[in-house]
Amino acid sequence: MRDCCPMTDKMHAMVFDKRRGLPLKAQEVAVPRPGPGQVLVRVHACAVCRTDLHVVDGELTDPKTPVIPGHQIVGTVVETGSGVGGFRQGDRVGIPWLGWTCGECAYCRSGRENLCDRARFTGYQIDGGYAEMTVADARYCFALPPGYSDVAVAPLLCAGLIGYRALNMAGDARKLGLYGFGAAAHIIAQVAGHQGRELYAFTRGDDAATQAFARSLGAVWAGPSDTLPPEPLDAALIFAPVGALVPAALRAVAKGGTVVCAGIHMSDIPSFPYEILWEERTVRSVANLTRRDAEEFLSLAAEFPIHTETHIYQLADANQALDDLRHGRFDGAAVLVPSNVASGRQVKSG
Ligand SMILES: [Zn+2]
Ligand SMILES: [Zn+2]
Repeated sequence: MRDCCPMTDKMHAMVFDKRRGLPLKAQEVAVPRPGPGQVLVRVHACAVCRTDLHVVDGELTDPKTPVIPGHQIVGTVVETGSGVGGFRQGDRVGIPWLGWTCGECAYCRSGRENLCDRARFTGYQIDGGYAEMTVADARYCFALPPGYSDVAVAPLLCAGLIGYRALNMAGDARKLGLYGFGAAAHIIAQVAGHQGRELYAFTRGDDAATQAFARSLGAVWAGPSDTLPPEPLDAALIFAPVGALVPAALRAVAKGGTVVCAGIHMSDIPSFPYEILWEERTVRSVANLTRRDAEEFLSLAAEFPIHTETHIYQLADANQALDDLRHGRFDGAAVLVPSNVASGRQVKSG
């Protein structure tokens, strides 16, 4: 079933080819067709994730070639393949990083589909949202809380979701450190504050603007990542891809404290003395997300308004958005918007 809007067989997309490297190339490509169980989605917004940088920089080594990046996709279903339940033409959906799992491996069968041996990921092994249209397996798409504009809700789909999974790994920690105050931290700070936790924000060097941003979102303390907080923390989440932050965070947590590495890639962790791990401190990583994480987090986001600081770029300016993210030129999240969306839809910052 197709919708009423005129649709051509070609669309604009920003394409990454690992044999060629950066920059992404603006191309006209065929509009994908939804197979059984899939939905065809007109993209309204796609937030840029640090993982996109790891893909285009070759730090994640197994992309489809060529691939359309982008895994924080907000759009409208325009066509459904056979056997799709749950979504219909016209529904607004969110499409996250987890694009497909096998359902059969030991991980899938034990509620850990985020670790599936054969998992496939959006914008990496499946074409993603740096395009006007995309297809996705309907079982991995989500209805989105209605109180958010397309642009405002997009960063919730990875920065929010995987940040939330990382936050859960901190257990009931009351004093919580956030290392790297970017897209994920600015969302998770609000969730953690809503849960009554006390927040400590760590930034690169003396980044006064980002420290002020963190305080504006509820941090009781903000300072450089190479300093200790005024009091020992119960847990710390590391969102920056910097291995040296692991020993720094271990030094900042109290006995029994947990350090959670929330990114998909990190530079090497320097060796450190055992005494900073001693006394039952834990270091662990968080990988991907489960659909249950998404359901939990999105219903939480429906309960109270999460402000997302967004910076809108036209789809054709995806390379600029990636470069600005790389160099920390904005607080919050970059969001790409196809130009065909600009008329008549909300594209202002959340
Ligand atoms: Zn599996
Ligand atoms: Zn991501």
